[in-house]
Amino acid sequence: MRALITGGAGFIGSHLAEVLLARGDDVHVVDDLSTGSMHNITHLKANPGFSYTLGSVMDRRTMAEQVDLADVVYHLAAAVGVQLIVESPVRTIETNVRGTEVVLEMAAKKNRKVLLTSTSEVYGKSTAIPFVESGDLTLGSTHLGRWSYACSKALDEFLALAYWKEKGLPVTVARLFNTVGPRQIGRYGMVIPRLVGQALAGEPITVYGDGSQQRSFTWVHDAVGALVDLMDADAANGEVYNIGSTQEISILALAELIKERTGSSSPIVFVPYDQAYAPGFEDMMRRLPSLAKIHALTGYEPSRTVAQIIDGVIDSLR
Ligand code: UDP
Repeated sequence: MRALITGGAGFIGSHLAEVLLARGDDVHVVDDLSTGSMHNITHLKANPGFSYTLGSVMDRRTMAEQVDLADVVYHLAAAVGVQLIVESPVRTIETNVRGTEVVLEMAAKKNRKVLLTSTSEVYGKSTAIPFVESGDLTLGSTHLGRWSYACSKALDEFLALAYWKEKGLPVTVARLFNTVGPRQIGRYGMVIPRLVGQALAGEPITVYGDGSQQRSFTWVHDAVGALVDLMDADAANGEVYNIGSTQEISILALAELIKERTGSSSPIVFVPYDQAYAPGFEDMMRRLPSLAKIHALTGYEPSRTVAQIIDGVIDSLR
């Protein structure tokens, strides 16, 4: 089996490459290193089953060639990270929409299954907790850059499901909820590596807003295992699945827990959203997945508590 991973030099993609290689699959990565890094895949280069192309998913020639050579396509390449999205909305929209168009078009020509990674962000401001895959998506104004990410990924999902319905292309959509682990960097937002980095450096720990917003965090190995299971399951074709954890924590409690687990004496400081992102920025207060659907298909269960996730990140940053 040969898997093509777009975005395979990124945080999640590089862990996915490792898992697939370990079970004996061949892996080819296409990555433009925009947010990914060679450093994430250097250790894989010695594996004879591993190869890569430095290039964009929007490059039709590269993608035609690599989709043809692959048996399955994990499409992870995307502009991600709230900070990046707010700062560079044009890049976000173009990468996410055009890249997915090319991947699906090429996959349809060769009938290769596509696993499209989407995001919990598509639920937007929905208050229908927990979020179920069939629930409504509630997005904010087009004047606020943040929502362009959710909208671009929602369009990707529509397109993937349209390829399934209209052309019979096997596709599965996975909505990832706040995935965390080694190699994730805090530069584009991503609260846990940012706050752990601040705590370890003795710098102020920055809590945006009043810290009452809640999240549930997913250990990267759980997320990657779920992606592989979804790719392997024919019953997942044409379906959308949440991948996450049901342990909720407020960001203030998270900051306190990070301070405790690192033994840091950093102060916790509150930063208004307007300063952290942009004027008028809207955050989601809660973001909690229903895991019933994926559990029924694959038996998926999160393996780590949030404290264990923090410890894993501390170990990787030390
Ligand atoms: N956040 C924070 N301090 C930071 C970075 C993020 O308080 O330095 C907050 C952010 O406002 C959000 C939560 O942490 O409420 C999770 O942010 P992240 O960017 O990791 O993911 P999101 O859930 O926004 O996609």
